[in-house]
Amino acid sequence: MAFLTPDKTYDLHGLTVKEKLITAGSGVRYYSNRRLDTIGHKPEYITIHNTPDINEAAGTNDAEQYARATFNNNMGDVVVHYYIDETDCWHILADDTVGWHAADGVNGPGNTKSVAVEIIMDGSGRSHDVKAEERGALLAAILLRRYGLGVDRLKTHRDWYPKKYCPAYILPHWDAFVGKVKSYLADIEKQDAAAKAPRTDGAKKKTFYRVQVGYFGVYENAAAMKKLLNDAGFDAIIKEETV
Ligand SMILES: [Zn+2]
Repeated sequence: MAFLTPDKTYDLHGLTVKEKLITAGSGVRYYSNRRLDTIGHKPEYITIHNTPDINEAAGTNDAEQYARATFNNNMGDVVVHYYIDETDCWHILADDTVGWHAADGVNGPGNTKSVAVEIIMDGSGRSHDVKAEERGALLAAILLRRYGLGVDRLKTHRDWYPKKYCPAYILPHWDAFVGKVKSYLADIEKQDAAAKAPRTDGAKKKTFYRVQVGYFGVYENAAAMKKLLNDAGFDAIIKEETV
């Protein structure tokens, strides 16, 4: 199978997210199709997992490979919402759709009330490893902010299923990771507040004077008028409108 193509790519607080969401028609083996809202739930927790780095094929990366493996049914029954590594982030299951990742069963709060973030690392502490964790912390903060949750709602896989030592690379310094998420969350709250704040005197609205020349039914006539204005030293643009 060719590399996955995202349906959407967008930026969230400096993090580029590639979105290709699993649907009932995707043929993914475990897909409950239970939206959290239809079973009376909304995302109440963010669950952090770790999965190891894998050999990267030329032209792609770990996050794309894990995301693609899910679509190809090569991940067993595991379905998480996000895969993130040091360079890429894939959103493959809508936040409000039940995943299969917490080992706490079909009615467990881990599976039914939490959004799963799988951070792909190797625990080496080398730069790629640190960067993946850093980006995972930012994504966790973005999701907490989206649902109005505090860092007390940040959970480990082990919180839902104590026998599973996951996120294996982050658990040894979990408190530091939570601290990182907390500081990202504070940054995001500040950014959102600044975006909402009214303009101050230093950022006054700019005034422009728009000159309307007219509409032309023939492109060449519009182009001739544009040339006339440009030649006279004025800026002019042509905008196509269909009415
Ligand atoms: Zn896990």
